Amino acid sequence: MTVEIICVGTELLLGNIVNTNAAYLAEQCAGLGLSCYYQSVVGDNKARLTESVKTAVGRSDIILISGGLGPTQDDLTKETVAEALGIPLVTDENTRQRIARYFEKRGMEITDNNWKQAQVPEGCKVLENENGTAPGMILSVGGHHIVLMPGPPGELRPMFENHVRPYLEALEPGVIFSQTVKICGVSESKIETDIEDLLAGQDNPTIAPYARLGEVHLRVTAKAADEKEAKKLIKPVVRELKARFGGDVYSTDKDMTLEKSVVELLLAANLTITTAESCTGGMLASRLINVAGISEIYKSGYVTYSNKAKRHLLGVKKSTLTKYGAVSEKVAGEMARGAAMFAKADVAVAVSGIAGPDGGTKEKPVGLVCIACQVCGKLTVKEYLFSGDRAKVRESATACALTQLRRCLLEYCGTRTFGKDKE
Ligand code: ATP
Repeated sequence: MTVEIICVGTELLLGNIVNTNAAYLAEQCAGLGLSCYYQSVVGDNKARLTESVKTAVGRSDIILISGGLGPTQDDLTKETVAEALGIPLVTDENTRQRIARYFEKRGMEITDNNWKQAQVPEGCKVLENENGTAPGMILSVGGHHIVLMPGPPGELRPMFENHVRPYLEALEPGVIFSQTVKICGVSESKIETDIEDLLAGQDNPTIAPYARLGEVHLRVTAKAADEKEAKKLIKPVVRELKARFGGDVYSTDKDMTLEKSVVELLLAANLTITTAESCTGGMLASRLINVAGISEIYKSGYVTYSNKAKRHLLGVKKSTLTKYGAVSEKVAGEMARGAAMFAKADVAVAVSGIAGPDGGTKEKPVGLVCIACQVCGKLTVKEYLFSGDRAKVRESATACALTQLRRCLLEYCGTRTFGKDKE
């Protein structure tokens, strides 16, 4: 079945808000194995919304519409869709009572326009809104399924999850099951090139790449009569992806994060860790501390932004700073060695870089970051060049430090060797 997404709201057209609902719905549809061929944004305008709805009904089986279900004058999605499809509006008694209870519970006065939300297209399926007053609706007309959902993501997402997803799943018999292969430290373009043959020939299961910061997730989705059959279809594809990307695959578990996989390696090897950060200013420590259970191995860390702090807190030599500069492999290496020594930790990760927007030179441009990992005395230092603004450089450096640390730990554990790394 084909699906189309229409997001309603003049704020979206003006760029005042980002269309996160479209991204969310598109991703959900892909996960359900539905082919989404069109997405559009239309303002709070009856004539243009009518045109969009009629066009969508003419070419798609399922139309997901978000926004414009509220009580105010400019919320006209439901009225417009009903009119475009020639369906009258009727009062839904359940919704009427729910609205009354919603306001009563909060001790708020019900203004007349709120009752507008109890009006629904005749014969539609009403979807309860557990997080607001505007209910969702599903209209089935001539083999098409038109789903109306409120605009606020905090209302739309639970409604999709609890009511729309089960409805869509029931439209086509069978189950859709997916598993995600999570890869770190390899660019999206390299990954796509490496699996070009698999992407070209895909049918069931399908492989969908999703770029994350410093990571790429490959979601493998299969449709089958039951979950067992779907898993059977997925298994060889996941095995093939693991074989192609080897140690760069950090997990196939949906709840696993990069930092969690690193912490698990540290715990398994019984290693304590510390961090010494300059441009990332604590972001690396923060990502590690995201993981419950890290307290056993992370005792202290350092944010050493100035040269003085690098010298006094980490013992970086003045001569090294003068000769090579704060952003250099030598300084990053001394930061890691010093941190490991002063924190009495087995493992130390140090990051020093130029996040910008100022401070770059021809030799050392903005985005240049040096990352050093010391694991039980063995030091690995690498230099990277990241693109983007200050925030992006800092986030990329943090993700990259985790990836580099993971590789060093794997090497230490003897699982894999990384001949290319500079030592
Ligand atoms: P309400 O009852 O809040 O009026 P509604 O269904 O009428 O709900 P809108 O008025 O269209 O929704 O939007 C309400 C708010 O929801 C917007 O101000 C915006 O913050 C958020 N929102 C709407 N559409 C989107 C979207 N496509 N992506 C992200 N956020 C959105």
